[in-house]
Amino acid sequence: MGGAGEHYVIIGNGVAGNRAAEVLRDGDPEARVTIVSDESQPFYYRHLLRDLVTGAVGEDRLGVRPLSWWSDRRIRLRLGQRVQRIDFGAKTIYLAHREKLGYTRLVVCAGSKPRVPETLWASRAHLTVMKTIEDARALRDRFGDVRHVLIAGGDMVSVRTAAAFLLAGRKVTFLVDRDAFWPIEPGPEQRAELAAALRSRGAEVIEDDAVVAVEPVGDARVVALKSGRTVRCDVAGAFFGLVPDIDFLAGSGLDLERGVLVDEHLRTSVEGVWAAGDCAQVYNPDLRNWWVSVGWGNAERLGEVAARNVLGDAVRATGPAESVLRCDGVVVATRWWVDLP
Ligand SMILES: Cc1cc2nc3c(=O)[nH]c(=O)nc-3n(C[C@H](O)[C@H](O)[C@H](O)COP(=O)(O)OP(=O)(O)OC[C@H]3O[C@@H](n4cnc5c(N)ncnc54)[C@H](O)[C@@H]3O)c2cc1C
Repeated sequence: MGGAGEHYVIIGNGVAGNRAAEVLRDGDPEARVTIVSDESQPFYYRHLLRDLVTGAVGEDRLGVRPLSWWSDRRIRLRLGQRVQRIDFGAKTIYLAHREKLGYTRLVVCAGSKPRVPETLWASRAHLTVMKTIEDARALRDRFGDVRHVLIAGGDMVSVRTAAAFLLAGRKVTFLVDRDAFWPIEPGPEQRAELAAALRSRGAEVIEDDAVVAVEPVGDARVVALKSGRTVRCDVAGAFFGLVPDIDFLAGSGLDLERGVLVDEHLRTSVEGVWAAGDCAQVYNPDLRNWWVSVGWGNAERLGEVAARNVLGDAVRATGPAESVLRCDGVVVATRWWVDLP
């Protein structure tokens, strides 16, 4: 096993995929290692996207490492290439631009996507989400004309984004949605604390209400709330957490639920295929349950565990201890999120 005949392919150019590639390269110097990602931007810090929008940082600050990092390690980066489907029997990946790519072992690190509640699917086109550098660029390019942002949700990304927008002098209306805090698990006291912290920073906070529809009016958005109230704003942001981005794997033969189902060694239901990071739903034998875990540090750890097991180890992906961190003045209990500078 391993050596020149081996071709490790990793789907995803995020923290899980890059850590997996690094471990595979270190452990098997002769093998081919390829990362495929539909994003055109090399590995970047997603937590800085809010600062890219406001202009607090430029794109030069987002990159995690220079391009030479991959070439020095002979890791082939295939950017801007979307995996459309995988034939696991033939160990072949079909790319959207009609190229085929063979592999000997595959690590799926496809990450997550913003969750938009079903009730808002009809309004999806008029809602702003922030997952990729493309999302952030689109908002940055019109941010000069943005005066008022409505943030619906309450996930970790929303709190930091609200703080950045307030700092940039924008009016922020924060609609605290009680179902949207995932991956945080706040009680009523924490929700009250969140609301108080946001108010103290100058945000208008709406509690016990929910968005039912968003309509465009010119460049503005009119947001209809359950209470009958409407809010007119320039940007209506949906921040309801992140969920595994696995639609492209539907019908592929991999066992899927909320994420790609893997055992504690991150093996999927298909021989020779592992999954790691936000897209994985990992079995915890102590809890006898599968967990999706969204967060940078955890994705990095899972990428490492998957790669070590690809190389023949038998490392278990044990769940990280529940931790408490302070997020812009709000104390939250979270299992997986880490405070990034
Ligand atoms: C705005 C924002 C702020 C955040 N802030 C923090 C924070 O402060 N602390 C923290 O702990 N976490 C934070 N996170 C979460 C953290 O970024 C994620 O947990 C982490 O990026 C997950 O890494 P990953 O490698 O699993 O997936 P991702 O980073 O999502 O990368 C997956 C990659 O796979 C690609 N991909 C998906 N499907 C395909 C396909 N079919 N073909 C080809 N490529 C595909 C995607 O385009 C993407 O490039 C933040 C996330 C966001 C969006």
